[in-house]
Amino acid sequence: MIDASSPLFFVLAFYRFVCIENPPRFIADHKRFFKTRNLTSRIYISENGINGQMSGSKEDAEEYMKWMHANPLFEDLYFKIHTHHENVFPKKTIKYRKQLVALDEEVDLKESGDHLSPKEWKEMLESDADPLVLDVRNEYEWKVGRFQQAECPPCQTFRDFKEYAEQLKKRVDPKKKAVMMYCTGGIRCELYSSLLKKGGFEKIYQLDGGIINYGLKQGKEHWLGKVFVFDDRLTVPICDEPTEVIGKCHACDSPSESYYNCANMDCNHLFLCCPSCLEKHLGCCSQSCKEAPRVRPYHHQNPHKPFRKGHHYFKA
Ligand SMILES: [Zn+2]
Ligand SMILES: [Zn+2]
Repeated sequence: MIDASSPLFFVLAFYRFVCIENPPRFIADHKRFFKTRNLTSRIYISENGINGQMSGSKEDAEEYMKWMHANPLFEDLYFKIHTHHENVFPKKTIKYRKQLVALDEEVDLKESGDHLSPKEWKEMLESDADPLVLDVRNEYEWKVGRFQQAECPPCQTFRDFKEYAEQLKKRVDPKKKAVMMYCTGGIRCELYSSLLKKGGFEKIYQLDGGIINYGLKQGKEHWLGKVFVFDDRLTVPICDEPTEVIGKCHACDSPSESYYNCANMDCNHLFLCCPSCLEKHLGCCSQSCKEAPRVRPYHHQNPHKPFRKGHHYFKA
């Protein structure tokens, strides 16, 4: 993944639901810590906790983890760590956000599902429990990678998901059917699992630390494709072993796991595309977008660079 000559950067993912008495002060502390260090981030803090993704030089990232662990609220906070050759966020974003996961309803987090370690998750997949495996990410994340047999309910809004849960009750017995739920880093499951419990489902399990933790601890078994991430990398391998490509070019259906934002700035749609179709449409998702008035010039060498303004795919 990383050759020895390139600098080593850590990409960290973490979250914790915990009462933070004074979010503005905690944010200010963060900003002070970040100011002089080679760190980039997208960190959200509220009265209910912290949801963080960040990257930095190995040294600075390690210092951050040490700094957080020195805080009694976070002394056992678990950081998922990937390595990369550069920073993966455009800037140092540390913000207040009332809801750590953007959803239109409050839920009782104490009612979430049972956490399964990656090992337990794997064992349950291999058991004869015949579980329903639910991927609670967005469809565009599911398209490039997922657990075998996973189904992807609409999770754009809580209302969509509730509707799905009602339909699900007609298909399976909510008291008996084991439901295994996962997302990228685990935080979305905290909310969706409590919603299913509220809806009468009794055997709800969630993958602790999400797909990222699974890849780090168990490798690629039962997983197909890549992991979508909300930073410059867009997709990453689940582990060091190669996996088959399951994504498909939106235009020609050939195997592809590269995402692009449409070059038409008024569209900015995120789509999977093979290099030749991308070139043919000059970075646009459709013929009509190619002819639109505000199209960013297509850079042959660097078509990847995510377009920053109005990047609506960062919503999750
Ligand atoms: Zn194509
Ligand atoms: Zn478009």
